[in-house]
Amino acid sequence: MQVCPTCGSGNLVKNGSIHNKKPKSMCKDSGRQLTKNRKKEEISEEKKNIVDRLLLEKISLSGISRVLWISESWLQDYVNDKYAQASQTL
Ligand SMILES: [Zn+2]
Repeated sequence: MQVCPTCGSGNLVKNGSIHNKKPKSMCKDSGRQLTKNRKKEEISEEKKNIVDRLLLEKISLSGISRVLWISESWLQDYVNDKYAQASQTL
């Protein structure tokens, strides 16, 4: 279940946005708006550096995701971005 990152309350209500149709919810206790964005998982720069090193060691994505507690879908996106950038610089 999703909880409010501000006050930790689970008292959330659905609050759909008219503009972009993204599912949104709002905390009834603190009034904070929460947007669900699958791709914007918070990964620290430090963790990304470790990911880079593990990738160089040819560790599988599922292995990295298990070790660092990162979702495989985030990793897949990250790797895709990386390769897209690399192919542009060539
Ligand atoms: Zn709250």
